[in-house]
Amino acid sequence: MSTIQSQSEDRIELQVKISSPATNLLGLDRTGLEAFFESIGEKKFRATQVMKWIHQLGVVDFQEMNNLSKALRNQLTESSCIQVLDVSQDMISKDGTRKWLLELPDGNHIETVFIPEDDRGTLCVSSQVGCALDCSFCSTGRQGFNRNLTTAEIISQVWLAAQLLDEEKKPGRKITNVVMMGMGEPLLNFNSVVDAVRIMMDDFAYGLSKRRVTVSTAGVVPAMDRLGDTLDMRLAVSLHATNDELRNELVPVNKKYPLKELMAACHRFIDKQNSRSRITFEYVMLDGINDKPEHAHELIKLLKGIPTLMNLIPFNPFEGSGYRTSSNNAIDRFRKILHESGMTTVVRKTRGEDIDAACGQLAGKIEDKSRRHRRFAEPRFGME
Ligand code: SAH
Repeated sequence: MSTIQSQSEDRIELQVKISSPATNLLGLDRTGLEAFFESIGEKKFRATQVMKWIHQLGVVDFQEMNNLSKALRNQLTESSCIQVLDVSQDMISKDGTRKWLLELPDGNHIETVFIPEDDRGTLCVSSQVGCALDCSFCSTGRQGFNRNLTTAEIISQVWLAAQLLDEEKKPGRKITNVVMMGMGEPLLNFNSVVDAVRIMMDDFAYGLSKRRVTVSTAGVVPAMDRLGDTLDMRLAVSLHATNDELRNELVPVNKKYPLKELMAACHRFIDKQNSRSRITFEYVMLDGINDKPEHAHELIKLLKGIPTLMNLIPFNPFEGSGYRTSSNNAIDRFRKILHESGMTTVVRKTRGEDIDAACGQLAGKIEDKSRRHRRFAEPRFGME
């Protein structure tokens, strides 16, 4: 009798262990870590100590954290973990851009890109496995959607990039900016993205200022309002078209939140931020589709009254996209019209082309859970 009883007790204990996996401390922001330490009977200040170890010193073994007591180190080893993603591929472009393919515990893959420039090093971070928004010119959208990333999976990209760039021991290979412009729509993974951004901006972690962290959205209006109420960081809006008819085709989420609502949300966002802030607008240059002078004039009208940084992105082609990049002449003509209206306008350089690391080319390797039925793309150019 007693053996039977103890066997079933063992089983219960085992079940409890399996159903409560160790907390991954990598994904807890300061408040989350403080709550974690209080829950195990420790003082709150352990949170900042452990954050420094993990994010600034790159330590993932609790036993190395020598300002914690031996007993606490053992307790953390038992009850929690610091788990980063596995690197499946690590590629460096001839222009210095470095791209990682990272494997998630469920076998899916995401991509992260480091883009060095003269005065900064920008890390482009993914927020979801695939993307549900189906923008017609984006390779990530073509693959469908699988799932949201956890905060730990988002921060793991920053952690890994910081460590691996540090190992290069070369000047100019530091992360000074983060843009949530990798795979996925950040605002459809709101809570995990917000917590991750908080860790990026925490002085005990990556210490990036609010001007150096950008969250990019295709225009999920209610979440833009929530973001403005929650965080002070940079917002980028992927605009790409100046009227609803075209934007419905290029960025289908426009059918749900049309331009009028999107622009109103941009005004509200600016009103909530401090007076020096502005919104970055992204505009992909598609040959014969959205690159004519009349589009530039419409754009000026549309953005009137919104402090704007305009980012013109030459379309990065991928197989079967059905689009062509605008000619240099068309891009230059477009830029000049915007510039003459007083709008700060930059043409984004295409980086990492030889390793498919450019905007909209991030593919990962995902199992599409949205089971999106892709019709074979019909050529869309020559529509003039
Ligand atoms: N879902 C978010 C984050 C993606 S950010 C958003 O839409 O903002 C990536 C940026 O690259 C977006 O502006 C996106 O529209 C743009 N992009 C996507 N595919 C592209 C391509 N093939 N060439 C150039 N830019 C592209």
